[in-house]
Parts: sequence; C-alpha cells; structure tokens
Amino acid sequence: MSDKPEKFIDENGLRLDGRQINEIRQMKIKIGVLSRADGSCYLEWGNNKILVAVYGPRELHPRRLQKADSALIRYRYNMAAFSVEERIRPGPSRRSIEISKVSREAFEPVIMTHLYPGAVIDVFAEVLQADAGTRTAAINAASVALADAGIPMKGLVSACAVGKVDGQLVLDLNKAEDNYGQADLPVAMTQDGEITLLQMDGDMTQEEFRKALEMCKEGCRQILEMQKEALKAKFADDTALPVPDEAEETVDVATALEDVVEEAEEAADSEEPEAEETEEADESAEYLIEEDLEPAPEETEAEDVEDETAAEELDEEDADEEVLDVEEEFIELIDEDTEDEEKVATEGSETREQ
Ligand code: ADP
Repeated sequence: MSDKPEKFIDENGLRLDGRQINEIRQMKIKIGVLSRADGSCYLEWGNNKILVAVYGPRELHPRRLQKADSALIRYRYNMAAFSVEERIRPGPSRRSIEISKVSREAFEPVIMTHLYPGAVIDVFAEVLQADAGTRTAAINAASVALADAGIPMKGLVSACAVGKVDGQLVLDLNKAEDNYGQADLPVAMTQDGEITLLQMDGDMTQEEFRKALEMCKEGCRQILEMQKEALKAKFADDTALPVPDEAEETVDVATALEDVVEEAEEAADSEEPEAEETEEADESAEYLIEEDLEPAPEETEAEDVEDETAAEELDEEDADEEVLDVEEEFIELIDEDTEDEEKVATEGSETREQ
C-alpha cells in the first residue's frame, strides 16, 4: 500500500491525479459484452474495472424461496483475487456481503419486481481491478446491465462518492483519498434524485454533509448522462431498421404507400352513399327488418340468394355427414375402450388368481 501523501490538494486547488475537487474520473461504459448473460456491462472508472452480468427474470429454485407477489433480486459483489495489489482470498467476506446487500437495496425501489412473481433477477458484479469507489462503480455498471437485460425499471440508478481530504470536500475519491481521507460518503440515487444508498465513513459537519449530497447529486447527474449515452449507442444500433441498398427502393416504398392511401381514399369516397344508407339503417331496426323481407329487386341478387340457399343446404348435408362420421368414430372408440377394459379386467383377475 502506498504511503499517506503530505497534501491531497495543491496550491492550484488540484488533486493528486490532477482533477478539480468536483470532477469525476473518466468513465467508459460498454454494454452487452457477455453473450450468455441476459444483460451485461463492462465499466472502467479511473483505474476501476468492473464487469456485471445480469440473468433473469427466471424461475427461482428452490421454489420455497419464491415470493408470491414479486421477483427476488440477488446481487453479488465480488472482488477478483487479483483486483488489488495483495491477493484477496476468494469467496465472500464481511465487506463483500455488506456491499452486496446495500447494492441490492439500491435497486429495489426502481426494479418493477411485482411484474415477475416467483422469479429471480441475478446481478453479478465482478471487480477485476479496484482503485476506490468499486461499490459505486459496480452499481453504475449494474444499472446499465439491468437495462440491457430489459428488466423493467422506473429509471436508472447512478452512484458516486464524496469524501473529505485536507478539510475539503472532493467528488469521486481516488485510492489515496479513500484510504487516508477524513470521510467517505458513497451515494446512489435514481434519476429523480431519490437516494437509494447512503453510507458514511469518517466525520463531516452537517453543513459539509449537505454540501456533499449536492456534490453527489451533480456527480450522479453526469454519470446518468454517460449511462444513457451508452444505452442509446447500443440500442440505436440494434433497433435500427434495415436501410434499403438503393435509394430508389425507399422512393418505391413511399410511392406505394401513397398509392395505397389514395386507393383507400377513393374507395371511401365511392362507398360514401352506402355508408349513408347504413347510417340511416342503423337509425331504425324496423327499417332493417323491412329491407330483409323485401323481395330482391334484381335477378342477379335473386340468383345470389338461390346460390346462398343451395350452399347452405350443401353445408348442412356435409355437417350432417360429419356428425354421423364423428358419432360412428366415437362409438368405435367406446367399443375399443370397453374391449380393452374387459381385457385388462380379465388379465387382472387372472393375475390375482395366480
Ligand atoms: P469502495 O471500493 O467501494 O470504495 P472500500 O472503501 O471498502 O470500498 O475500499 C476502498 C478501496 O480499498 C477499494 O476500492 C480497493 O481498492 C481497496 N480494498 C478494499 N478491500 C481491499 C482488500 N481486501 N485488500 C486490498 N485492498 C482493498
């Protein structure tokens, strides 16, 4: 571990890594990096490297863990053994269990779990390289991965931390600031500014706390923009309609559409008198009955009526035949069943006798 620096902020008001006190580290977001996961995200934030995979909603096993009215969210935060200078012992630790719990709670208010009773949504956050702020980095990546998985959410969750070094509040702590600073306040919030995670390590006055929250809010706003951009970049590509090879095709489609609209309009114009008749007819049920009873005025219509009657008669005959066929088949089936049953009964009694 590196030694404690003498000063965290220089005479120009810049931090050890050259950032302003209210400046977040550079962030890179890549979506859909794992083909087997339903949603995934790889995020780099300064020297942090985080990979998140989301699975679900899928049926929860064992079934006794299922919730009748909502989906269960499982969140596993894990640091790879090689993610820090000294090897981390694999497996859950007190710290990783705590971070997993608070991170899950950071998503519970936004994920619409009531839509998937009996299901589970699994979030696996793997820290490949750690450099302070890994829980907030993992939340930012998880938020995007959940969206990538198509999990219905009220909005994205963004997270960042504010700390205190040399008596000054600084946004998004680096490793030295995190390890040797006077305070660390990680916060996650929804895009509406609702806080879903708030932890604090160290000391702050009330005034500092209020100011720190404001700084976090601004940090989260910037991160939200990056998350949205990353999602737009992916889904704008995925959902893009295939563009025809030649511009002419586009024109053809447009022209064809216009033709269809014109035809429909013409048809509507020519049908208007009929539509009026229908409207009038609708006004009186008696009128309708009279119309039906009136003899067909033209020969063609009379022929149509005769044809219809003949067709109906044919249909009825066919139907009768079908009914007979079905009845015959049914009787045959019953006979077969009875024969089988008798056979089974005889065999059964034979077996018993033995
Ligand atoms: P966060 O990463 O969310 O800021 P902490 O404040 O607990 O969480 O940790 C700060 C940093 O300390 C981590 O990002 C990591 O770089 C380092 N760190 C945490 N746990 C260990 C560990 N077991 N061994 C070595 N370094 C660690």
